[in-house]
Amino acid sequence: MKTIAIIEDEQDIANLISINLQKSGFKTVIFYDGTSLFSYLNKKQVPDLVILDIMLPDMDGLEICKLLKKNPDFSMIPIIFLTAKGEEIDKILGLELGADDYITKPFSTKELIARIKTILRRSEMSKDYGNKKIVIKNITIDPEKYEVFINNKKIELTLTEFKILYLLASKNSFTFTRRQILEYLWGNEKAVIDRTIDVHIKHLREKMGNNIIKNIRGVGYRINL
Ligand code: CA
Repeated sequence: MKTIAIIEDEQDIANLISINLQKSGFKTVIFYDGTSLFSYLNKKQVPDLVILDIMLPDMDGLEICKLLKKNPDFSMIPIIFLTAKGEEIDKILGLELGADDYITKPFSTKELIARIKTILRRSEMSKDYGNKKIVIKNITIDPEKYEVFINNKKIELTLTEFKILYLLASKNSFTFTRRQILEYLWGNEKAVIDRTIDVHIKHLREKMGNNIIKNIRGVGYRINL
């Protein structure tokens, strides 16, 4: 179960976020100021993601972000800023500080949860395979920008197609089974049938050209370049 830390001094908002996250299967911890967040972190408790308000009673969210990003134990924790309207400059600054996203109040918790899920998937992926750019012959795959180029021409892929391609390309000519691809994409949380992978790969092959991804009959798929 993933733990989300919520740092927000407005208790109603903090509770609202917390309740909705719990409904979506997350564990939550709430802090009303920076000091209590850091005393939690100092016990080596590392949340999977931080939702960070900017205006807080002790230190502000930007300062907290800086401190987190400076500390190698916490620098990998994704951060989503909560900003009030009119905090435009802070928003930009926030992203420059290494925050992953921001959401402006008032926001829908549904939207917030969707963003959290996207960011967690992304960080899961970079944990497993790094977020190194992969270049194989005339193909370039950039996991930070989610971009793929063949002969310098950009190929538009869906997120799932991108992830499949990135996985296959991370081990050139290694055959991945459907099961491995499924687990990489969705972990154990989703009951997906093997055929789903075939459909994504069919689309991927149509976009990339059929010769790049090989179907190894009865086993799975691999990239052969
Ligand atoms: Ca506040």
